[in-house]
Amino acid sequence: MSTNRNITIIGCGPAGSLLATLLAQRNYQVTVFEKRPDMRVENISAGRSINLALANRGITPLEAAGVISEIKPILTTMEGRMIHDLSGEQTLQKYGQQPHEVIYSVSRGELNKILMTKAESTGQVKLHFNSEISEVDFSNKQIQYTTDNKVEVHHYDILIGADGAASIVRSALKNHFENDADAIFKINKLDHGYKELTFQPFNNEFALEPHALHIWPRGEFMLIALPNEDKSFTVTLFLPETGVESFQSLTNEQAIEAFFAKYFPDTLALLPDLTNMFLQNPTGQLATVRCNRWHLDNDVLLIGDAAHAVVPFHGQGMNCAFEDCLELVRQLDENDQDWNKVTPQYCTARKPSTDAIADMALENYIEMRSSVTDKRFLLKKQLAFELEKKFPQYFIPRYSMVMFHHMPYAEAYRRGKIQQDILQQLTENIFDISSVDMKLAARLVLQRLS
Ligand code: FAD
Repeated sequence: MSTNRNITIIGCGPAGSLLATLLAQRNYQVTVFEKRPDMRVENISAGRSINLALANRGITPLEAAGVISEIKPILTTMEGRMIHDLSGEQTLQKYGQQPHEVIYSVSRGELNKILMTKAESTGQVKLHFNSEISEVDFSNKQIQYTTDNKVEVHHYDILIGADGAASIVRSALKNHFENDADAIFKINKLDHGYKELTFQPFNNEFALEPHALHIWPRGEFMLIALPNEDKSFTVTLFLPETGVESFQSLTNEQAIEAFFAKYFPDTLALLPDLTNMFLQNPTGQLATVRCNRWHLDNDVLLIGDAAHAVVPFHGQGMNCAFEDCLELVRQLDENDQDWNKVTPQYCTARKPSTDAIADMALENYIEMRSSVTDKRFLLKKQLAFELEKKFPQYFIPRYSMVMFHHMPYAEAYRRGKIQQDILQQLTENIFDISSVDMKLAARLVLQRLS
């Protein structure tokens, strides 16, 4: 097993296509099965969310695969959150303090196409499109797939499930573990869904500031907009699925128009086709996948969303999936490509971090839809930046640790909790940063974070 050089990957999304390249660069022969057609030749939707936020954790693996120069031209910088209040006023909240502390909006489809082409260009990756895996048989080490209406069988040596949140490899593992399955594989569905809309360009220009992620925070729900290369914005409404103001209640033109007029009046001019789009576009569901086993023996492994899908509010799902890929090959490199050793150790090492980003992503939903307008939150954010300036080795705002740094998510989560305590203590009964006791701040930071 340890010398095996044939890898089978199910799923040619972001994780599957990047991992194929990284493995091919280590001289593996990689076969990838993807159920969708080849989006480079057929005009199909790239699936959920038209664009994505790409951050440092995602960029480093793309650099390692030698593909970042092809991706850079399709990135749009986002420097912060542009908060839209009910009166239509806009305020930019910067993400970081340094010029490089920005994130990027990228088209999911264009990024995926570049990664597919890169994988094929290695000469060691064979991509099979229109090939949906319908069965995984661990005892005979084979998968069954349907292509051109024919059922085919493929034998694998090492199988990697990069087949997303509804992974068939994970379902097969669940069946395999039978009695323990419920304890091992947990899916927590969020009771909020999402719907995508579009702001078209206005006079051939962006209708809003292009270098920001726009948010209309409205307490229980929110609208966000990310810029696209063609000067449009992809707009996403996150809203409870049921209740008085919910997707369930927005089923006719009058209700949709009234809802947008009440909560997002400044968007109406940008959404001339609102009701049609709203009624035609699907409502997506969101969930967190938590599983305690990502592997079976040393020859079956889950990666990316298949192992740990998270809700999208930290913009880290794909970034985390890319980090997974780099971490896996880094461990293989350090262990002489010994899969027997790496498979279990990779899962054990990575799991605390994917649990942490799952929790932080859920917490960030509250931050985005509600806290960003809260005066105390803003005071703490201002103080966090101040402490970062004074103690850059010890105090880094949690958002920055997640988006701009490479420390494990679990460490960012742990330090973030301590920092939150410190910020709470320092801002108790205080309304202005000039009243903060900076001597106490220094003591707390050095005592608790050094
Ligand atoms: P997927 O992207 O799901 O790819 C899986 C692939 O496997 C697909 O191509 C699928 O067709 C294929 N497949 C599935 N089943 C089979 C089968 N049986 N046989 C063959 N092929 C199969 N992440 C970010 O980092 N930043 C963001 O801003 C961001 N925004 C998001 C917004 C929304 C609304 C959502 C829903 C997610 C967002 N994410 C974001 C998360 C991100 O989309 C995922 O984390 C990422 O796509 C995971 O990549 P993956 O390759 O693991 O899985």
